[in-house]
This record gives sequence, structure tokens and C-alpha cells, in this order.
Amino acid sequence: MARKPGLLHHLPIFSGTLERAEKRRARLAADPLKQAQLRDERLWLLALLIIFLLAVSLFLITATGDAVGLVPEIVAPLTMVLGSDITTCFLLVMVLLIVAYIRERLADHWAQNRRLIEELTRKESALKKKDAQLTTWGELSHALIANFDLPRLLDLIVTTAIEVTNADRGSVMLLDPEEDVLTIKAAKGIDQNLMASTRLKLGEGIAGRVAVTGEPLLLSRSNYQSHLNSDRHRDEDISSAISVPLRIEERIVGTLNVNESSRATEFRNEDLRALTLFADQAALALEKAQLYRDSQRQLEKLLSVLDELGRTQAQLVHSEKLASLGVLAGGVAHEINNPLMVILGRTELMLMDDNTDDPVKQNLDTIRTETERIAHIVQGLLTFSRKSRQDKIETVNLNEILERTLMLSEHQLTVGNVRVEKELQPDLPTIQANPGELQQVFMNLIINAHHAMPDGGKLSIRTGGVPDGRLSVEIADTGCGIPPEDINRIFDPFFTTKEEGQGTGLGLSVSRNIIESHGGEIGVQSIINQGTLFRVIVPIVPPTEPSDTSPFSLAGLTDPARAVS
Ligand code: ADP
Repeated sequence: MARKPGLLHHLPIFSGTLERAEKRRARLAADPLKQAQLRDERLWLLALLIIFLLAVSLFLITATGDAVGLVPEIVAPLTMVLGSDITTCFLLVMVLLIVAYIRERLADHWAQNRRLIEELTRKESALKKKDAQLTTWGELSHALIANFDLPRLLDLIVTTAIEVTNADRGSVMLLDPEEDVLTIKAAKGIDQNLMASTRLKLGEGIAGRVAVTGEPLLLSRSNYQSHLNSDRHRDEDISSAISVPLRIEERIVGTLNVNESSRATEFRNEDLRALTLFADQAALALEKAQLYRDSQRQLEKLLSVLDELGRTQAQLVHSEKLASLGVLAGGVAHEINNPLMVILGRTELMLMDDNTDDPVKQNLDTIRTETERIAHIVQGLLTFSRKSRQDKIETVNLNEILERTLMLSEHQLTVGNVRVEKELQPDLPTIQANPGELQQVFMNLIINAHHAMPDGGKLSIRTGGVPDGRLSVEIADTGCGIPPEDINRIFDPFFTTKEEGQGTGLGLSVSRNIIESHGGEIGVQSIINQGTLFRVIVPIVPPTEPSDTSPFSLAGLTDPARAVS
């Protein structure tokens, strides 16, 4: 309890001395052993004083008892026992010596007690430390087991390693089994640049050696530098270091490292033992996180396969529907074709009739042109609905197929503000091909070009020959272009960057399949935000056996999104 300041505290001359005394009292109060010792010392001093006073009294009684008229019955026996002054002094000295001896023994006893108490206090604080360490370990082990996030887990491992060994800095290095190189995956107290640039080959530096031998290493100030086999890995700041292997089953997956720079006391064997124990636990947690990550990846893969399967199934159902629609459209087109021919024939007849007036002739001319247009569209629909290439190999003119395809998409292109520029080589040789399939390819390319130019642009279509005698068709746009990272994937089935419902990712894969089955090839060049050019090259005569180079045989499959548009 705090004492109330007395009157003397207010006098400057006493206040300093009193304060010091207060402090001393407070110090004593904090050390019960010292307090007891002081009390004993005081008692001994009192006992000595009493003995001394007794001796002096006896001496005075014997020396001056008679003179001062003390009762002779008291003085006589005392004088007899004590005899002379010399005997008195001798007894006095003896008593003092015995007292001093006992005092000495007691001092020894106290010293021993103090040592014992100090030892006990040390043990108690060590136990407390161990207890706190165990609690922290318990919490951390729980956190380690509960943590599946690898970066967070690595961070936790470093923090714990530092805590367990009371180190300045620490790091976890993991081994890249392909390159046999250790890199720092998490660290505390280490410069970011150093972290990023450190790459230790197996056998290099301390961690590299531990990863090779699998033996934990404890290095002290005296042997730290001599253990490094190259100057490159020296760190002048480090005075003491521990590196232990991280082992999953019998495989070393990395090392756990801690080091000291400024601590007067270096790492001890207990630190090494504690870190080795912890490293086993950390490796288990890492394995568990790794397993979790692997299973997550497998699950993601499985889900994406399932997703793809679902889409393929939907695709197939859709294609089935479209195939029926195609048959239906073919039938309808066929039916429309006959009356159209009748209308065209009659119009021609009326036009040839000399009795027909000029204004009527003009109207008839318009009727003929538009009817011819309808006939072309119907012809396109008929070609589009045909299926097997093998059955439909014909002599075809690429320019005509392109014209027909353009006619089918003309309306959409005009509405979309797309200007079409044609450079069709006039005397282009005919080739042997399936016109329906080629039309499907060109339609895919034209629609892709259109989609790439949502705000309009220029669509260039060129035909010509290539030096090896084959023919080429180029379809180029001034659209958004294809990012370099996608260019190798655009021919993959189901690869699409378009929104749900806009694209199926089948157009190009189907197109490549068709062209390759004709013995030709299809290529692409693209510059982002400038445009894309697709070049189709076909031989004059296709191979007798159709080549089917694609892992999926999609040649007969029409991309529903294309067919619908
Ligand atoms: P879909 O058009 O259904 O997505 P495709 O196989 O036809 O499938 O095309 C695959 C992808 O290739 C498209 O999603 C698009 O990202 C890209 N692509 C194709 N043609 C072009 C083009 N002319 N300009 C820009 N990107 C294109």
C-alpha cells in the first residue's frame, strides 16, 4: 500500500533521502528473501547487543559490586563463577566467537537458500516460457491444420519458427524438383529484393546443403562463415543460424531457416531440437495444403469437363434440331423454287410481249430482278442444307460460292455498317469441292468479321491463285483483332470470347475441319485493334480419301449460331 507523505517529505533537505529510503523499501518489498534476511540480521544485531550489554553488566557487577553495595548473595556467586576479569573477557570472547560462528553458518545457509530459490525461480520462469510456448504451438498447430491457403500457411510457418527460436529473421525455402533449385517462398525480416533473387542450387549455401543431406544444421558465430562454401552466399550480418529440412514422407521439399544477427547469446541445441520438431509439423501442414490444392484443381478440371460435356450435349441436341430444320428449309426452298420459276418465266414472257407498255415493262423488270434475287437466296438455302461432302463433290467456282454467301449475309452487313470490298479474280479456275461446306466456311468467316466490327468497318474479300497451283480466298476485316494469347486457341472446339448465346466456339474448328478434309489449309494473321485476315487455301482437286486431322470429327456439324444467322 502506498504510504502517505509525512511532514518531513515537505522539507527539501530530507525529501531526497526519504525518497531513496522509500525506493529501497519498495525494492525490498519486491524481494521476500532479502526481507527475511534483513529481519534475521536485525535480530542477530539485537541478540549481540543484549549479550554485550549483559557482559558489560556482569563485568561492572563483579568489578564494582562491593563498592556500590550490591547484595553480596548475588555478587559472591558471580565473582566465583567468573573469577577474574581475564576469565570474564575470555568467556565474553568465546560467546562472541560462537555467535560469529553461528552467524557464519546461517549466512552459508542463506546463500544456499538464495541459490536454491534462484534456481527454482529460473526453473519456474523456464516452465512458464515452455507453457506459453506450448500454448502458442497448440494454437499454431491448430491454425496450421486449419489453413489450406498456401501463402498464408507459409507465412504462419515462418512466424512460428521465429517465435519458437526467438530468432531475428526466418524463411521457408521450397525446392523446385524440376530445376533442383531452392527459392524463398515466405520470409520475415528479409529484404524483398533478396527474397525474389535468391535461388540456391542443391548443395549451395546452408539451406542447399541441408536439402541435400537432410541433416539439420546449427551454426554459431565461430563456424558460420567457414560452413559456407562460396562467398556469394555470405551474409555478414548473420552471427548464428539454424536450417532444418522440410520432409514429406522421405522426400525433402524444402528447408526452414532462422538466423540471428545481434543476439549476444547464440542459438542453442534446444532451439535446434524445437525447430526440427516444428519443421515436421510444418511439413505435414504443407503436404495437407498441397493435397487440398491438388484436389481443388482436380475438382475444377472435373467441373470444367462436366461443363464442356453439358455444352457438347446441348450442342448436339441443337445440331440435331438444326439438321431437321435444314431438311425442312431444304424442302420449303424446293417448294418455293417451282412457283418462282413460273413467276420468272411469265415475267420474261410479258417482257418479251411487244404489246406491253413501257411503264408496265419497267415494273416487270423490277419484278424479274427481285424474283431472281429470291431465287438466288433459295438456291443458297438449298446448298446450305446439303450434308455429306463425299456425295456432293462438284465442279465449283469459288467466286460464285463467295457471291452466294455474301448475298445471304448482305442485309446484316449493310445494317451493321460494314462496307464490302471484293477483289475476285475473274478467270479463277474451277475446283472440285462440296459447295455447301465451302459456303459454310465462308459464312463463318464473314460472320466472325462482322462480329469483330460492331461499329462497322471494311470487309475485304479476295480470291486468287497461289504459286503451287492451289487457290486462295482471303477474308479480312478492320475489326478488334485477336489477342496474341488467344491466336493459337481460336481453332480449338468450343473456344469463344463471345457472350453466352453469341458464340459457340465451333465455327472455326468446323471450318478448319472442312478445309482440311478438302486437302487445304486455313491460316490467320491479326493485329489487335487493326484487324484480322483469314486465308483459306484449297487444291483444285481434293484428295480421294478425305483427311480428318482434327481430334474431333465435326465436319458434318454446323455451328448452330452460324446456321441460324
Ligand atoms: P465463335 O464465333 O462462336 O466464338 P469461332 O470458332 O468462330 O467461334 O471463333 C472463335 C473465336 O475466335 C471467337 O470467339 C473470337 O474471339 C475469335 N475470332 C474469330 N474470328 C475473328 C475475327 N475476325 N476478329 C476477331 N476475333 C475473331
